Amino acid sequence: MHSHIKYPISYQTKLFDRIALKIGVLPVIFCPVCGNIAPVIAIKENLRESCLCTICKSNNRQRQLAYVLCKSIATLSKKRMRCLMDFISGLDLVIYNTECIRAIHNNLSRMKNYICSEYYGPQYKSGEMVNGVLHEDLMNLSFADETIDIVLSSDVFEHIPRPYDAHREIWRVLKQNGRHIFTVPFYQTEFVDETRAVHDRNGELHLIKEPQYHSDPLRPEGALVYTIFSLQMLVEMRKIGFRTNLYHLYKPWYGILGPNAIVFEAIKT
Ligand SMILES: [Zn+2]
Repeated sequence: MHSHIKYPISYQTKLFDRIALKIGVLPVIFCPVCGNIAPVIAIKENLRESCLCTICKSNNRQRQLAYVLCKSIATLSKKRMRCLMDFISGLDLVIYNTECIRAIHNNLSRMKNYICSEYYGPQYKSGEMVNGVLHEDLMNLSFADETIDIVLSSDVFEHIPRPYDAHREIWRVLKQNGRHIFTVPFYQTEFVDETRAVHDRNGELHLIKEPQYHSDPLRPEGALVYTIFSLQMLVEMRKIGFRTNLYHLYKPWYGILGPNAIVFEAIKT
């Protein structure tokens, strides 16, 4: 029986994580965002959102995304990639990041074919510039079909009213074999997505569950959570035409720890 994998998988807090929490620092990691060997500080109970690289200020979640991005680009370019620095010059890939702030953006913004956007509200049209920043509604992107190699989103899709419409749009703008690398709040042991809020046909908001907000530098009240995803997401994405890999990472040397380091790589097939 022991050779079989049982689902749901049960997780125990690792001793390493407990020690890291207790001392609050990791003396050295290799940061896949900035490529430095540096200490990690500010290790908090919420390991996913803490553990800051002292050099680029990336947190655990951003390093998870960068780690899978590097592996994905290594597959596409057949070259070894350990951090963003390994490809920001010399590769012609078109990368679209769905945010214009934070450590990953700061490094990728040096790339030639880099695009980033923010969402400023329904009063704007996708493709418009707002205070010098591109506005895009992920459910209705302004980009032409099959023009982008890689899309990045980190905890964005839970804030989209119709997340699978946005996945369909990303599928449209990706080139064949292009990838959407992303993180979302994800129930590892649930089979059906949790819909917490919806908009009706007139655009009016209906709360199905107690509203949850995530902190958002653009909105003082925070960003409303519409969906918490589950294994259903992988099925829905297959219907759209993605083959989605789920990576469950545990890489303390890269400053990636905790029980819920999950990154998705949806490949347009
Ligand atoms: Zn760093």
